Amino acid sequence: MDNNIQRKEVPLYIKINPVDNVAIVVNGGGLPAGTVFPCGLELREHVPQGHKVALRDLKQDEEIIRYGEVIGYAVHPIHKGSWIDESLVHMPTSPDLDELSIGNKVPAALPPLEGYTFEGFRNADGSAATKNILGISTSVQCVAGVLDYAVKRIKEEILPQYPNVEDVVALNHNYGCGVAINAPEAIIPIRTLQNLTTHPNFGGEIMVVGLGCEKLLPEKMLPNGDAGTIVLLQDHQGFSKMVQKIMEQAEEQLQRLNDRKRITCPLSDLVVGMQCGGSDAFSGVTANPAVGYAADLLVRAGATVLFSEVTEVRDGIHLLTPRAVNEEVGRKLIQEMKWYDHYLDLGEVDRSANTTPGNKRGGLANIVEKALGSIAKSGSSAIVGVLSPGEKAMQKGLIYAATPASDFVCGTLQLASGIHVQVFTTGRGTPYGLAMVPVIKVGTRNALAEQWHDLIDVNAGQIATGEATIEEVGWEIFRLIIDVASGRKETWAEHWGLKNALCLFNPAPVT
Ligand code: CA
Repeated sequence: MDNNIQRKEVPLYIKINPVDNVAIVVNGGGLPAGTVFPCGLELREHVPQGHKVALRDLKQDEEIIRYGEVIGYAVHPIHKGSWIDESLVHMPTSPDLDELSIGNKVPAALPPLEGYTFEGFRNADGSAATKNILGISTSVQCVAGVLDYAVKRIKEEILPQYPNVEDVVALNHNYGCGVAINAPEAIIPIRTLQNLTTHPNFGGEIMVVGLGCEKLLPEKMLPNGDAGTIVLLQDHQGFSKMVQKIMEQAEEQLQRLNDRKRITCPLSDLVVGMQCGGSDAFSGVTANPAVGYAADLLVRAGATVLFSEVTEVRDGIHLLTPRAVNEEVGRKLIQEMKWYDHYLDLGEVDRSANTTPGNKRGGLANIVEKALGSIAKSGSSAIVGVLSPGEKAMQKGLIYAATPASDFVCGTLQLASGIHVQVFTTGRGTPYGLAMVPVIKVGTRNALAEQWHDLIDVNAGQIATGEATIEEVGWEIFRLIIDVASGRKETWAEHWGLKNALCLFNPAPVT
């Protein structure tokens, strides 16, 4: 206990790379002017927690370096020991996509991790699942009200008779009607919905509820000749008959799903998505590197790991293309960045639109600093594949799945890509959860873990105070992924039933 008190009194900063000329203040509440660090550095003014302090005098326009990378340029001369607030940082331009090295620093494979398994469900198509859910898909939002009514009754009246089935989930969304269905980019929401409908946690049981006049034909939700049942509301005689039909169909499928039992599956069957939201300056120091370490462990055990969020890798892309396993993967990675640059151009913004007021209060000066912390989630493995938004992951290893950074849009697209578990890091705090898969939340700071003791599953804040190492928290996350995938442990989001709505990414026109 004494140790704890003493440690909190010692002023601490974290410098990540030996060449960095700034560091971030660790202590809760920040540190006042006059504070002297053990190294002799004295603060000239109050510096809030997570915010940057100049480790030496900086001239006007001099490079400000964190993570060993340029995060900006000094707006005017900055004295050693000063607070480097965002207003003092000129943002650099993002890396030129035509000047990137590809595959010149492909990391060697780390030693395989043998013998790790999880208790999952085996599907007829060979895929594995981490949950046993009846999923009911929809081809248009018009049906949402009726479906919600039916799902409520299914849960109350039918589900209790099938104890092996964990939940009934309606895949409601805002697509289907009034959309330019043949626009080139419409492929994104369409394949997202197709891949959500066939998510492995639904066990191959497919029901699509449609209206009957929508542009997105319900048959399109069954792209590979998948067997499935379509319920069209316009074919039924009144509300009660519609609900009755959905409930009858649900019961038939629940009977089959109830036969599913957990069996031991190799970890190579698992697909894990990494995401961050509500980031702060600690994200790239504590939670994201620990998640990256867990990502490496998963890859070593043969699993598939997805990392995403284009605007949060765009400024670190020069650190990622060298890790592309070959030219083709590197080119596709660059192509996804170009596509997104163009998409942002059309909206007359750039990647700097990403950072939020909360990010800035948490010490992140700009998107460059945020991105350098964000890409730590990818660990250190070779990047073996790249997915366009909503494409399904078909290979093992570390994959870049291009998505917006918006938490619900990224979550929805990673679900379409087939994740079984999502690991979500947060610094400012968000109660985010998904209905289809468990979400493990990793907090970046001790104070957040204490404040949200019943929402944050893993506290990576101990890394900043020296109470735990990145490796230790990485192993904790890895083991928790296995326990949660096996249904042995519940995440807080599962415990409280926190489920954010699906949010499709539709870059195509709406008519
Ligand atoms: Ca996000």
